[in-house]
Amino acid sequence: MDHVSHPEIREAVARLCARFPGEYWRGLDRDRVYPTEFVNALTEAGFLSVLIPEEYGGSGLGLGAATAVLEEIHRSGGNGGACHAQIYTMGCVLRHGSPEQKARYLPGVASGEIRLQAFGVTEPTAGTDTTRISTFARRDGDRYIINGQKIWISRAEHSDLMVLLVRTTPREEVKRASDGMSVLLVDMRDAVGAGLTIRPIRTMINHATTELFFDDLSVPAENLIGEEGRGFHYILDGMNAERILIAAECIGDGKFFLDRGSAYAKDRKVFGRAIGENQGVQFPLARAHVQVSAAALMVDHATALFEADKPCGTEANMAKLLASEASWYAADQCLQLHGGFGFAEEYDIERKFRETRLYQVAPISTNLILSHVATHVLGLPKSF
Ligand SMILES: Cc1cc2nc3c(=O)[nH]c(=O)nc-3n(C[C@H](O)[C@H](O)[C@H](O)COP(=O)(O)OP(=O)(O)OC[C@H]3O[C@@H](n4cnc5c(N)ncnc54)[C@H](O)[C@@H]3O)c2cc1C
Repeated sequence: MDHVSHPEIREAVARLCARFPGEYWRGLDRDRVYPTEFVNALTEAGFLSVLIPEEYGGSGLGLGAATAVLEEIHRSGGNGGACHAQIYTMGCVLRHGSPEQKARYLPGVASGEIRLQAFGVTEPTAGTDTTRISTFARRDGDRYIINGQKIWISRAEHSDLMVLLVRTTPREEVKRASDGMSVLLVDMRDAVGAGLTIRPIRTMINHATTELFFDDLSVPAENLIGEEGRGFHYILDGMNAERILIAAECIGDGKFFLDRGSAYAKDRKVFGRAIGENQGVQFPLARAHVQVSAAALMVDHATALFEADKPCGTEANMAKLLASEASWYAADQCLQLHGGFGFAEEYDIERKFRETRLYQVAPISTNLILSHVATHVLGLPKSF
């Protein structure tokens, strides 16, 4: 099943991850602490700047290199959630920023000096219906004044910059609901305590996610990315890469559960024989392998389309759906065959089980993907 793509990257990431074993992740998970040492090691090794062009100090590789990095982190038992957005959030600046913005920020993002890994879209009342966001940025001379609220904004406390989606024209005043939104780069170093409040949300996983409150936060107008009013389209544009990369993390999770499940099934003896000698234990693992392998092919397919600059929205969505369901099935079967030990923290199965569950909800929930396929691919009537 193993991919052959980017074997040298995979080996190097696996070597790095071996320095951060289950014990490391368990300790952080218990106390909900950010994996600073791990993120620093990835940064120093250059793995978080694979997508940044060489002229800005990155390695200028394609999306496949980034999928290899994230898959291997997850296969090793670790979690890329603490820093995966440092790999792709900069895409918004790279694709839509001005030459000055690129020159000012991208080299620092490539070196890791600037952490650009907060992405502020979701709001408590709008939910998935992004055109209903109400966080508003009012132009005032050469500044924007921001008021509103965001929720589930991950890594906000560990970011120097945030890509923030706001309304700059009320929904009622635009022709299409997706117009009138804009993207601003917020410098968190200046903003916290000067109009921005960050409140951490404790969740079932260690994900450093937060709630943000904007109270007359003033941001220089030069921090606008691209054109005012076009922000929704810029954000949509980055979503394919995000979905493919998250799908790669799910593939890594799936392989983790298959590796651990197979090893345990061979080792654990009950009724005088290995539990893996029973077909009742073998078949669910075999099925998980089939599902993870099929999902991995869809991830590869979506990645190839993305790298060839071809439309890949549907494929990226399908890859994310299949991979998140395959990893969850593998997680459930792996936990089951571990019996009581599956619940013991020291085996890491329960932690990874919790972690991989997220991906059926974020960054986009399964129903919304099914709705996309139903209406955009099958031509069924729109339901909303
Ligand atoms: C740990 C974590 C980290 C996150 N990080 C970020 C981040 O960094 N930045 C950010 O902007 N967001 C982030 N999110 C938000 C995430 O993208 C959303 O939670 C996700 O998109 C689902 O949106 P929602 O929670 O508003 O669900 P809702 O939109 O409230 O939907 C609730 C449920 O109803 C279903 N549903 C809604 N409408 C329909 C419909 N028309 N038909 C069928 N089913 C429907 C959905 O599929 C879902 O299952 C994060 C979330 C979590 C939990």
